[in-house]
Amino acid sequence: MHSTVRTNIDRIRENIVETAIKCGRNPSDIRLMAVSKTVDDDRLAEAIKAGVDMIGENYVQEAKRKIEKMGRNAEWHMIGHLQTNKAKYAVRLFDMIQSVDRRELAIELDRRSFALGKIMKILIEINMSGEKTKSGVSRNDVITLVQEVALLKNLSIQGLMTVPPWFDDPQEARPYFASLRELKDKIAHKRIPNVGMKELSMGMSADYQVAIEEGATIVRIGRSIFGERPLKA
Ligand SMILES: *Cc1c(COP(=O)(O)O)cnc(C)c1O
Repeated sequence: MHSTVRTNIDRIRENIVETAIKCGRNPSDIRLMAVSKTVDDDRLAEAIKAGVDMIGENYVQEAKRKIEKMGRNAEWHMIGHLQTNKAKYAVRLFDMIQSVDRRELAIELDRRSFALGKIMKILIEINMSGEKTKSGVSRNDVITLVQEVALLKNLSIQGLMTVPPWFDDPQEARPYFASLRELKDKIAHKRIPNVGMKELSMGMSADYQVAIEEGATIVRIGRSIFGERPLKA
């Protein structure tokens, strides 16, 4: 049985609404991002046609090609690890960069945004689990990084992003989502100028419903929309 991209999106949207209502949240406070790494243009076009208005990309090069082809009917967000030497392209391409995890990168993004006359929206990516293979600032260093980035006038912090470890049982991801929300509240409480803490980007195909229960405002979904990716991307 082959289910279409649109059917998948409709089902996920229903799940989002249902989950939000069950936990007393307003469904319109949760946005669905389609994560399109390795996805071919036809299926991505199908998602946009189905009304997806936020697309997540992991690679600058791949995003550049797709944006040129698909246009800007949707917002394009960078969610993958960003090399500092790609900052220049990233600020041109993306509406938001969700993977800011170090001062050096933020400084370069700020410099490049200034040159473009753009205020770049960003999220701070946090490595909640401390896994060596994951990007993201460690939870101990988050506040310092936020304070430093807040001083950069051409960047606008909108919130936090994380990728928890993989679990077979999505319930096991819950503590990571809950901790990210606590961290967001703690930072918001400090009322640092130029720091907004509205967005919590967390939850993927396997665990987005748990993430919504813990406060996600953006869920990033790839496989449940587009099907399994080839093993080697
Ligand atoms: C690939 C990816 C996703 C989507 O994961 P799925 O399991 O396909 O839903 C979300 N966030 C990031 C950062 C990713 O790299």
